[in-house]
Amino acid sequence: MPKNTISDTLKNQKIGEVIVLKGWVRTFRSNRFIALNDGSCQSSIQCVVDFNDFSDDLLKRITTGSSISVGGEIVPSLGSGQSVEVKVKELQMLGDCPPETYPIQPKRHSLEFLREKANLRMRTSTFSAVMRIRHVAAFAVHDFFNKNGFFYLNTPIITTSDAEGAGELFRVTTLPFDETPRNEDGSINYELDFFAKPTNLTVSGQLEGELGALALGKIYTFGPTFRAENSNTTRHLSEFWMIEPEMAFYDLSDNMDLAEDLCKFIIKNVLEKSKDDLNFLNTRLLNEEKNKPKEKRSEFELIEKLHFVIDNSFVRCSYTEAIDILLKSKPNKKGKFEFPITEWGVDLQSEHERYLVEKHFKSPVILFDYPANIKAFYMRLNEDGKTVRAMDVLFPGIGEIAGGSQREERHDVLVEKMKNVGIDPEHLDWYLDTRKFGTCVHSGFGLGFERLVQFVTGMSNIRDVIPFPRTPGNAEF
Ligand code: ATP
Ligand code: MN
Repeated sequence: MPKNTISDTLKNQKIGEVIVLKGWVRTFRSNRFIALNDGSCQSSIQCVVDFNDFSDDLLKRITTGSSISVGGEIVPSLGSGQSVEVKVKELQMLGDCPPETYPIQPKRHSLEFLREKANLRMRTSTFSAVMRIRHVAAFAVHDFFNKNGFFYLNTPIITTSDAEGAGELFRVTTLPFDETPRNEDGSINYELDFFAKPTNLTVSGQLEGELGALALGKIYTFGPTFRAENSNTTRHLSEFWMIEPEMAFYDLSDNMDLAEDLCKFIIKNVLEKSKDDLNFLNTRLLNEEKNKPKEKRSEFELIEKLHFVIDNSFVRCSYTEAIDILLKSKPNKKGKFEFPITEWGVDLQSEHERYLVEKHFKSPVILFDYPANIKAFYMRLNEDGKTVRAMDVLFPGIGEIAGGSQREERHDVLVEKMKNVGIDPEHLDWYLDTRKFGTCVHSGFGLGFERLVQFVTGMSNIRDVIPFPRTPGNAEF
């Protein structure tokens, strides 16, 4: 017997075919209709049993969450909502699921409740839809880069660099906690540690990515990234996945084009390949919106919003223009911002970014040319001597989805910038080598994969778009 999935069966429905399906029971109504789901797609398939054919003992065990094997004929469905169903001839219990203790019942559970049950939440329609879309998006990332001549480069997860202080670090060590070996001055003796120096989990693969780009031309990384920041927001995880392309001979404008193309390509793929799951999430969001006060409801439905993004160009706006807009904005004048904008040079908070994207431009926005002193040392200094070729891609509802820059390719300027922020150039001599040996204009950015999945699924909390979220105080499962 070939192994059928429900997805295949519904796609290639052939009336009269006899098949075997295995899956988990979503519901069992009237001792007759089993909604069977195997995770392969959003839809469950209706399996109709004649209770005369099976023992009461067996039928009693068919409860929500139990796994069963069903054999039978595909017949046209009389009920609404599906075109075919399975007329069950064989029925086998594979794994019982006691209803008294199974937490996932066929009713609405809150996302908060399901977060506590993350070991089982992928059994729900919402989370299985999100995970399937996550897969489609990840596949699209590789597809996009492969089609465009990029090489997939795996940068290390354990590193000695902190990538310009992109975030707080998780230390990696095998030193004992008690009786940690000490130097004479009392500091920890890392020479006795596994790598003979302090190491941590990576906060970004960028610096190594640049080495790849200055050899292979165009590379990208796509891997786990770790930040030990104690920020409990709906947009931060302690472990997330980042996509980091790095390209030789690309300037900032090429970099912006690439970021826009990549985002659009991924969204287009999801629109094409995840229709059922998107429709499900669209409806889910509409229902959620109904419970919100009118002024808080979003203008767009999820699918409309995705089309809007792929059909329109991202607005490009310099930091200086953005400050002008914000200075003149109503919320700034009326003191509605928590952090009022007072002058050129301040760092933008997410409230400002969201104002620009959601209220002013009503479109994804790429901000560029930020003040040098609020951005990392490796960004290319502009001729004005005070701004750098940085860019942040901002999305409605999410805020920053990607951040990047044209990199400083001039050895002397880079060394100077490192010294200014207290980085010992000798510490990063391996990185500086690229500027010594055949340096060139190059650029790259980091795109937070979960933030993108948040955007395409409409999930408001980042913890709900990764199978097993890690956040401060939470590393369960
Ligand atoms: P933010 O200001 O939103 O905290 P950042 O500027 O610190 O982000 P970058 O160092 O620029 O982040 O990282 C590149 C991208 O990685 C960000 O644009 C974002 O999409 C994603 N990202 C950064 N930190 C996190 C996090 N803690 N959890 C999930 N995604 C993240
Ligand atoms: Mn950033």
